[in-house]
Amino acid sequence: MKFDITITKTTAPKERPADESKLGFGRIFTDHMFLMDYSKEEGWHDARIVPFGPMPIHPASTVLHYGAEIFEGMKAYRAADGSIRMFRPMENIKRLNNSAERLCLPQIDEEGCLDILNTIVELEKDWVPHSEGTSLYLRPFLFGNDPHLGVHAVNNALFAVICCPVGAYYAEGLNPVKIAIESEDVRAVRGGTGYAKCGGNYAASLRAGERAERNGYTQVLWLDGVDRKYIEEVGAMNVMFKINGKIVTPALTGSVLPGITRKSCVELLKDWGYEVEERLFSVDELFEALENGTLEEAWGTGTAAVVSPIGNLFYKGKEYTVSDNKIGPLTQKLYDNLTAIQWGKQEDAHGWSYTVCNG
Ligand SMILES: *Cc1c(COP(=O)(O)O)cnc(C)c1O
Repeated sequence: MKFDITITKTTAPKERPADESKLGFGRIFTDHMFLMDYSKEEGWHDARIVPFGPMPIHPASTVLHYGAEIFEGMKAYRAADGSIRMFRPMENIKRLNNSAERLCLPQIDEEGCLDILNTIVELEKDWVPHSEGTSLYLRPFLFGNDPHLGVHAVNNALFAVICCPVGAYYAEGLNPVKIAIESEDVRAVRGGTGYAKCGGNYAASLRAGERAERNGYTQVLWLDGVDRKYIEEVGAMNVMFKINGKIVTPALTGSVLPGITRKSCVELLKDWGYEVEERLFSVDELFEALENGTLEEAWGTGTAAVVSPIGNLFYKGKEYTVSDNKIGPLTQKLYDNLTAIQWGKQEDAHGWSYTVCNG
């Protein structure tokens, strides 16, 4: 079911960034945004693309008080054949609806949502940057928007999509990052909202992230909230380890976000003949592998960074080096293959690349 989208074009188009090496992440926005309202009586209505800018919000809006907000992160790429593409967009749409279910926010029709993404990307296609490694980051988000303070599932919501031309996520590029294992705060617990992509999970993770940064680390490695022992994620990425030739990644227990990059890496690794174990993986087991030299590589996975090699791990006063603080060959191979599929430079055997329009 497609929504009837009205388009109001800006009369004051912005200058597009001339220097694509300085795009950064999430600081520059395109000329337009998508908005759509929901009410229990009318369902989703008033789908519209309007000039990008501030949105009025009621001071009692549910999202401001009770954090009813979910989001997605995905990218549009300028492919080698000149087309503009997305990567597995239906996976993001399904996850958005799974997150919505957890937070009692309304569902969006999958085909309708894909059409919304196509429409905004096609309208903003000149904003998709051209340089290697750059893309147009899409941020769909949905929040509860009741204009009163009662605590219950909402009657009103808003769905929006904003777009940013982005460069490489990490200032350090693909260089290995330093990770501090977090032994105090937890990001999520089983039964909570860990598997939902919701703003609240991020709010809960900021303190540990700040502490790690102050101490010279890029991200934190999260442990589970019950035993404080099983590895869950690294920063806002999923995490994988190569130990003695096998791949180990934390199982999707409910407190781990089901990453689309994670899923794609698992599928590629299996294609390449690797044994991939999705299971509980304790920090003790990690240190055993570090100490006996069987930990070959460690990396994070996520849309923003694609693959991010881990070079250093810090835990309870001790620092360990992983793969000589260099990017490991398998980490590099994953990065090369995933980005080649995303930018249409390599055969896409799985049909992951989705063409939006000509560039
Ligand atoms: C979005 C996200 C990821 C990565 O998911 P992708 O679909 O690969 O981008 C991992 N962990 C958290 C907490 C996230 O929010």
